[in-house]
Amino acid sequence: MTGIGTTAIHGDDGLAPANAVSPPIVQSATFSADSDEHFTEVATQQRSDAFYTRYGNPNHAQVAAVVAELEGVQAGLVTASGMGAITTMTLALLNAGDHVIVQRSTYGGTTSLTTGLLTRFGVTCTQVDQTDVDAFARALTPQTKLVLVETPSNPLLELTDLAAVIDLAHAHGAYAIVDNTFATPVNQRPAAFGADLIWHSATKFLGGHSDLSAGVVVGSAELIDRVWQTSIVTGSTLGPIDAWLLLRGIRTLPLRMARHNDNALALARALEAHPAVARVRYPGLASHPQHDLAARQMSGYGGVFSLDLAGGRAAASTLLAELRLAKRAASLGSVSTLVVHPRSMWAAIVDVEQLAGIGISEGLVRVSTGIEETADLLADFTRALDVVAG
Ligand SMILES: *Cc1c(COP(=O)(O)O)cnc(C)c1O
Repeated sequence: MTGIGTTAIHGDDGLAPANAVSPPIVQSATFSADSDEHFTEVATQQRSDAFYTRYGNPNHAQVAAVVAELEGVQAGLVTASGMGAITTMTLALLNAGDHVIVQRSTYGGTTSLTTGLLTRFGVTCTQVDQTDVDAFARALTPQTKLVLVETPSNPLLELTDLAAVIDLAHAHGAYAIVDNTFATPVNQRPAAFGADLIWHSATKFLGGHSDLSAGVVVGSAELIDRVWQTSIVTGSTLGPIDAWLLLRGIRTLPLRMARHNDNALALARALEAHPAVARVRYPGLASHPQHDLAARQMSGYGGVFSLDLAGGRAAASTLLAELRLAKRAASLGSVSTLVVHPRSMWAAIVDVEQLAGIGISEGLVRVSTGIEETADLLADFTRALDVVAG
């Protein structure tokens, strides 16, 4: 296997016309066959990329191959969003009567899916504190089919011990599924700890430019075939142009992540000392309660950190208004620094009491550092926080 920077460029070699240095966009909803036999062959082939675009498309196949290789697994498929990925995966693997373990601190859409929608179809769910391996052990039942892990988690940057939790899931015959959106394969490879499926909101760091919405699921060919069977029913189909843009984004993922990692670490360190800041949550800080675990299972700490502002919601509001370079926007993993007030953002999909219970306070601000110059970001945040501190 090549180094990650090379894999990002060459992981799809052989999947596009040999002489096209940049693969063509195959903007076609359907593909013709030469004969009855050929039609039947493409129509029945698993993950066919030459039948009908909802079943697969050359641009899908190229991106999926690169992400699978970056994550160190056999196969992958792309969806129209990260939520398309997890909805399809869970519908592919769960039956009525099954039980799911999910983290209390996790992406709001994951909470909404597991504690809401899936329960209407006879699936039960237990939410656990991800920092406590014993909590996962206690939650396991003979019906547990999936253990859904997200580390570092959105937006509190708490970690899950991948080796311990994945081993526990396997010892009980459950699948371990990891949301690797925050870390990306540049910083963390869940497959090295035995994860069965790894998924991403490719809208974030993989795409990297805030110009597309996409999801990716990767794992063994056998599991990806099962997820694919469901994906042709759920129909979360990524447009060929967006698949092409995603691949273009991934070409520079290793370069971008290096800068995201540097910027987040520099800002997290500097802002920790600011009087307006009660706490900085970032796995790369020695003050993070799970810093040792981060150092064990991550090779870089990612581009996202959160600030707990001493002045609560008013302080958060002032900070967001004062920042010049950082944009007030949902999402993360962009070339541009984005800041958000999670309590406001998730009010539509997770109820306020649940948000407060998880630790998403009124003064919490999530920062997704872009790839701007470190010194400029430091100046922007320091000036804005000085205003907050008064
Ligand atoms: C954004 C996000 C998702 C959902 O992805 P979409 O592409 O917005 O559907 C899932 N997990 C994490 C960690 C996210 O940040």
